[in-house]
Amino acid sequence: MQRLLSPAVRIALGLVSLMITLVLIGEVFTGYPPDREAMARRYRAQVARIVGGEVVLALRAGVDALPAPDAAVQRALKDAQQREPTLLSVRVIGADGRPLAQVGEHTRGWRLAREDLSTADNIRLPLISNGKPWGEVQLVFEPALPVTLRQWLHDPLVRWLLFLAGVGFLAFALYLRRVLRHLDPNAAVPERVRTAFDTLTEGVLVLDLSGRIVLANRAFCDLHQEAAASLTGVDAATLPWLLGALPADTKALPWRQAVQHKRAVLGIPLKLEADGLPRRELVMNCAPITEGPNQVRGCLATFSDVTELHERTERLQVALGALSASQREIERQNEELTLLATRDALTGIFNRRSLMQQAEQRFAEAKAAGATISCIMCDIDHFKQVNDKYGHAGGDQVIQGAAKALSRGLRLGDFVGRYGGEEFCIMLPGGTAAQAAEIAERLREDVEANLGSALRDHVGVQVTMSFGVAEIGPDVPDPATLIDLADQALYHAKKSGRNRVTTWSPARMAPA
Ligand code: GH3
Ligand code: MG
Ligand code: MG
Repeated sequence: MQRLLSPAVRIALGLVSLMITLVLIGEVFTGYPPDREAMARRYRAQVARIVGGEVVLALRAGVDALPAPDAAVQRALKDAQQREPTLLSVRVIGADGRPLAQVGEHTRGWRLAREDLSTADNIRLPLISNGKPWGEVQLVFEPALPVTLRQWLHDPLVRWLLFLAGVGFLAFALYLRRVLRHLDPNAAVPERVRTAFDTLTEGVLVLDLSGRIVLANRAFCDLHQEAAASLTGVDAATLPWLLGALPADTKALPWRQAVQHKRAVLGIPLKLEADGLPRRELVMNCAPITEGPNQVRGCLATFSDVTELHERTERLQVALGALSASQREIERQNEELTLLATRDALTGIFNRRSLMQQAEQRFAEAKAAGATISCIMCDIDHFKQVNDKYGHAGGDQVIQGAAKALSRGLRLGDFVGRYGGEEFCIMLPGGTAAQAAEIAERLREDVEANLGSALRDHVGVQVTMSFGVAEIGPDVPDPATLIDLADQALYHAKKSGRNRVTTWSPARMAPA
């Protein structure tokens, strides 16, 4: 209802009423359209005079019969009625009021009393004989003006006015809609409001329900050279530069969505290309303008220039990329450093420092859990002679071969490190002395059978190793003590002839 009675419709209704009033008033001053009742009255008076004349002639023709009526009078009345279709009835009466002749149903249409004057529909014509009233002719016509609604609707004047009202309303409404669109609606926006909008650095558009621009502030007009022209009344969907800036996957125009779904559509990224200007990044927000809880009147669209922010974000991302690359490089170098710091350069197994660190950790865990942990200390037999015979490089090959042989013979969780020159230490968390001795024996056999082949330039050389085994116990407070016990067992193995495994026992080895 509110929409039907838009300003255009209301003004059109007012104009139509004014036009009809002017037509009706104009009749008084111009005589157009002519008064049909007066015209009918004049015409009928003439008809009455003619009929009266004919009656008199008929009466004279039948003078012998006077004063009685004769057939000539009756025929004159009949002829008159046939000539004049609006003539419903005619009666001739004598001076005493007695009907002398009649056609049509006279009593139904005759409404005048004896002293009444003629009207448009009832006309009386006195007959005078020798200066005295002789009688009168009474004529009844159809009503001069329409009586029923149907008749009124068929009346040309009424039809003319209805035509003027209907077509005039349509024409006015259409014309006004067009004119109002192009009339500056800014005039309806108070100056201070427009000034306030113009001071905003954000572009602002106020759109009506159909998406036409009601107000565009200065910042919006500065967005594009094509926006500098007057935008008022323009359909925002016909601005190619604005449509081109919307994301490629846009299905419905954001301002239409906001109006349709009665909720804000926020954060639409726009990429604005303008001739001769660098591309700009904008963010558009569209919020419906509501009146009452459910009545949407239009849409407020704002445009923020985020180009600088965007560029800064891009630069930041580049910097972040470079940073993470250098971080990866640092991590790689750290890994390398850790490897260098924890591994023995010649053999690649743990060096003494990290071996001790690992041993401390595992030993503490075993102590806390009341679990067992064992240690194997091993040393290459007569290594000095290897060096002497095959050179320092040959000695290095044997040390590398020993590290490999020891590493491949271990269980998961066991670990080996180079303790000194040709001396190695193996830790076996969860292993008892017996298990450790068993493993040591297997390692010893492997070394005895294969370590000689580590010498690449010499064939058939045999190199052996001696092994000392010790297990954690109540008297062993730290890994150093455990290693020391295993070392004592190793010393015992060396003394007992080398190439063997000795397990520490208090009976066998007197404490130092
Ligand atoms: P034993 O059977 O009693 O252990 O006798 P050994 O000759 O193996 O023991 P000793 O401790 O007398 O000699 C160890 C030698 O190992 C001394 C040192 O020159 C040599 N050596 C230590 N580190 C390296 C190394 O990294 N490379 C080489 N080629 N020789 C080393
Ligand atoms: Mg040795
Ligand atoms: Mg040694």
